[in-house]
Amino acid sequence: MKDLTAAIPATDLRSAVLQHLKYSLGKDAEHATITDWRQALSFAIRDRIVDPWFASTRETYARQGKRVFYLSMEFLIGRLLEDAVVNLGLLDEAHETFEGFGLDVRTVMADEPDAALGNGGLGRLAACFLESMSTLGCPAYGYGIRYEHGLFRQGFRDGRQVEAPEDWLSELHAWEFERPEATIPVGFGGEVRELGGRMVWTPDERVIAQATDTPIIGWHGKWANTLRLWSARPETVFDLDRFNAGDYFGAAEAENTARTISRVLYPDDTTEEGKRLRLKQEFFFTAASLRDILRRFDTEYDDLSLLPSKVAIQLNDTHPAIAGPELVRLLHDERGMDLPRAIETARGCLGYTNHTLLPEALERWSEGLMGSLLPRHLQLIERIDAAHAEAHPDRRVTMLGDGDVHMGPLAFSMAHKVNGVSGLHTELMKETVFAELHRLHPERIVNQTNGVTPRRWMVSANPRLSALITEAIGIGWADDLERLAELEPMAEDAGFLERFDAIKRANKVDLAGNLAGRDLPVDPDAMFDVQIKRIHEYKRQHLNVLETIALWQEMRDDPTGDWTPRVKIFGGKAAPGYVFAKEIIHLINAVGDVINADPATNHLLRVAYPANYNVSLAERLIPAAELSQQISTAGKEASGTGNMKFALNGALTIGTLDGANVEIRELVGAENFFLFGMTASEVVARREMHDHARAAIEADPRLARALDAIRSGTFGDRFEAITENVSGQDYFLVSSDFSDYWRASREVDAAWRDRAAWNRMAVLNTARSGWFSSDRTIRGYMRDIWNAEALSIG
Ligand SMILES: *Cc1c(COP(=O)(O)O)cnc(C)c1O
Repeated sequence: MKDLTAAIPATDLRSAVLQHLKYSLGKDAEHATITDWRQALSFAIRDRIVDPWFASTRETYARQGKRVFYLSMEFLIGRLLEDAVVNLGLLDEAHETFEGFGLDVRTVMADEPDAALGNGGLGRLAACFLESMSTLGCPAYGYGIRYEHGLFRQGFRDGRQVEAPEDWLSELHAWEFERPEATIPVGFGGEVRELGGRMVWTPDERVIAQATDTPIIGWHGKWANTLRLWSARPETVFDLDRFNAGDYFGAAEAENTARTISRVLYPDDTTEEGKRLRLKQEFFFTAASLRDILRRFDTEYDDLSLLPSKVAIQLNDTHPAIAGPELVRLLHDERGMDLPRAIETARGCLGYTNHTLLPEALERWSEGLMGSLLPRHLQLIERIDAAHAEAHPDRRVTMLGDGDVHMGPLAFSMAHKVNGVSGLHTELMKETVFAELHRLHPERIVNQTNGVTPRRWMVSANPRLSALITEAIGIGWADDLERLAELEPMAEDAGFLERFDAIKRANKVDLAGNLAGRDLPVDPDAMFDVQIKRIHEYKRQHLNVLETIALWQEMRDDPTGDWTPRVKIFGGKAAPGYVFAKEIIHLINAVGDVINADPATNHLLRVAYPANYNVSLAERLIPAAELSQQISTAGKEASGTGNMKFALNGALTIGTLDGANVEIRELVGAENFFLFGMTASEVVARREMHDHARAAIEADPRLARALDAIRSGTFGDRFEAITENVSGQDYFLVSSDFSDYWRASREVDAAWRDRAAWNRMAVLNTARSGWFSSDRTIRGYMRDIWNAEALSIG
């Protein structure tokens, strides 16, 4: 076919922006708002992505490459414009172009609302993976849900979290291509009958999954993949008979019911919501994705036994685990493959990533719910369970038990590889949640330690540091991050350390300006000590608050003492139904109010808690951080990825031996990491001890005094839920780890005051963290799980 696109002349960015402003948006440059300019730039940039995107698809077809399909309930993408500009190498041109318009391109890019289709680490991981798969040329699709409302917007009222709906789609979203032709029916409920020797499922409710595609461009525009998100639509848009009869609400009922499925993101990534809607969401996007995958496969191949060699499907946690039985159903019921072969074929395609060992976060669905919503799937799960039992007669685990379907064991048994997300987490998985399954399938569990994309978390977020690195070791490190090791010798170079320090200082000044705009004045000469992540008991923000109170009390005792000034920065949202986490938020704000207002100490210690932590705020906070708080109870954080972003940006970590902290400490060196706290096995042992919290409090007068201050109403409310918890059951061992945390924090204080030594440690953190690129992680998945090959469009 003739290449019609060649007929369109390539234009410079300036003309492209002006053209889009006028012809796509219908705006006149004189009256255009920042948002108009941003939309025009987005269209102009999107145009530059389309050709490499098409070329990537053509290359995948031409080479008959294996495709990877990454199924995830969450994609916490953040802003797309800056990522695309940076990856296409157009930042300088964009900067000049907008200077010509009298605008700062960074301000224009910062106008974009965050696409917050995720809760936290799990969703952000999926977003980093998409970018890395494109950078590496791994032919891949992300599949998820196009939530109308992403993660709620957080505000504070009287120090308490208030939630407002997020509406990222209230304005034009320039990145998407709607695919009204790509629609797939998805059914629920109904019944199963045998018809001519086959089981036929006839659902009694149907919705349509409609696709919207967003191209994801890799570094240097070398490759582009697709993020395909599904929206739910009614099968029949409108009941005209009811409308004509005057029943206007009734006429739109089907539409409302269907649209509910893609209306909102479930606002929690760790606690199980036993909701029918959640299961519907999970099946909705999984079923639509699998049909889409098979449809594409059918256009290329006519032999289903090739499926595992051409298709890799990765399940990001158990949320899409219904993919196992659904793929078996498609192959067996619809395509006539015999059941054992269908199970084998499905397993050959599927991989499962486990993200948590927290028992309350392991998904289960009651058989009643599963049977009423997905009757055929329940039957198939019984068959899969029976087949597994037959093959392993001495087994003690089941996918079905206590009236529930257990999605973890189901995902495990339907996947050819199961991975954990850090070395420690993978080992604990083998010993705890999947101990029995691991014994039966010792080859199945593999580790793939998480990573983060350096394009967003260094090049975009920290342009000053990136420029210094490029000056020091040349270009080419951003997609070959272990080259950061070449910075090691500069840790001994006083001039380099000073420049590194000046960059951190400039980033701190920028952040201080931003915080001042939020009425949170902070002094850039103090240490910036940052804990940003979802608020959760196991992440122990309350341990940090208790240490803050104790420090404040000592400062008050001796205000002229030789203190290291600190700004304690917190960020994070609590799930709306998670009462204890919301109490922690209230406590942080209440403590901040009192400490920030204390004239005796507020030049030494301040608390800043900017509301509505999200990807864009993380991009501002992390480059300015000097201390990274990674203080979860050992054994509870599967990996963490925030910890990696900080280390790469030259913050030192104070942390426990948990998740990927273990690997960070190994790589950056124990002498460049502030370790404290019990190990995972000590945690287990300590919990057995009678009255461990009371013993810890009795042994540490600082902790006792901090708790007393809270109880006595120093911070207004008395926060009984928190004080009673940490002095009572204290499942997360806040009290037991307090003394050692205090010790490590004071070592941090001392270390920070020796600027040269601190900067040396910081540089070594950056230099030795290159392994935490998500490129390394994706190469691991490609090699150990997907057996997929990288392609290129030259
Ligand atoms: C990286 C990131 C997370 C994950 O942080 P952890 O500290 O690993 O829990 C959560 N939310 C956002 C916005 C992030 O960028």
